[in-house]
Amino acid sequence: MKLVYVVGNGQLGRMLRQAGERMGITVYPIALDTDPETLHISQCVITAEREQWPATELTRMLSTHRTFVNRDIFPILSDRLTQKQLINQLGIGTTPWQPLLYTKQLEHIFSDFGKCVIVKNRTGGYDGRGQWLICSGKESSLPHSCYGSSIVEKIVHFSSEVSLIGARGYDGSTVFYPLTYNLHQDGILRVSVILSGQHAQQKTAEYMLSTIMRELHYIGVMAMECFIVPEGLLVNEIAPRVHNSGHWTQNAASISQFELHLRAILNLPLPIPVINMPAVMLNLIGINADMEWLAEPRVYLHWYDKKVQQGRKVGHLNVVDASTLSISKTLSTLVSLLPSEYARGISWAQEKLEQG
Ligand code: AMP
Repeated sequence: MKLVYVVGNGQLGRMLRQAGERMGITVYPIALDTDPETLHISQCVITAEREQWPATELTRMLSTHRTFVNRDIFPILSDRLTQKQLINQLGIGTTPWQPLLYTKQLEHIFSDFGKCVIVKNRTGGYDGRGQWLICSGKESSLPHSCYGSSIVEKIVHFSSEVSLIGARGYDGSTVFYPLTYNLHQDGILRVSVILSGQHAQQKTAEYMLSTIMRELHYIGVMAMECFIVPEGLLVNEIAPRVHNSGHWTQNAASISQFELHLRAILNLPLPIPVINMPAVMLNLIGINADMEWLAEPRVYLHWYDKKVQQGRKVGHLNVVDASTLSISKTLSTLVSLLPSEYARGISWAQEKLEQG
């Protein structure tokens, strides 16, 4: 029997556990305040569902443990500054950026990057938190604590946002899913669309992500989020873990990203994922579950069993069918069963389905 501990006990850990159950692998997501004495560390493999964590008795112990896969990579990738430096050193393009160090610097940045920029905390931000849109003349609205602890990025005018999810094994082999289209609102992922047929940037994206994974000697699933611009792909960020934009793989692929990650970290063979059908993933954010969703046969509900709070991801719906028209019709039914703010994301997905 294999035993895997996951640092963090949110929805990603939960879905890793569910994937493990089917394969006879015991996966225990662990809360950060768990007493390390209660764990069977000598017989396990350790992974993480998050790239950063506060120092607790547990994390101090785990972060030095030899079976913590990718242990030394998390500190590099959990800091936007060192992550971007690494990507740029490999000759891979990112959004133009600079470390933000002092107030006067913003004047020069506005003249280089344009009259509005995005300031992002180097560590700790997620789902749009720890980010500020700052325009020239409004510098004082930026918290002072950002200087020295943030980066500043040029605003990119992209035609689409896409992500690539891939996995690398101990033997250096890599496998990838097709590029997924993503819609973010206020920095939070709302909808993903996966189409059949190869995207023009697929091979380029695979080359970029495999270059990054190889450089880091990375093992497991990694996600790369990109902007599509006229010159090609710009990396926005990479995540050393299973990723929200890969949740559609649970219902529309021959192997889910969760199973793929477990296989990689346990040194099991990595099958090439086969995409069975196009799909749309809708994130459920701060709303109660509604069993009416399940009246639609093409809808798969994944509920995280978390306390419902405003802005909190509490589940997702995968809508899957061989016919994009049928997916689109199902989405039209779902619009009436969801709060009005879902309408924009759904019509964006329907447009993508039509183009595909
Ligand atoms: P992040 O937290 O860096 O993943 O950003 C969340 C979302 O904010 C992205 O998916 C984009 O939709 C948007 N965003 C972030 N950085 C930029 C940028 N430099 N230019 C334009 N949009 C951005």
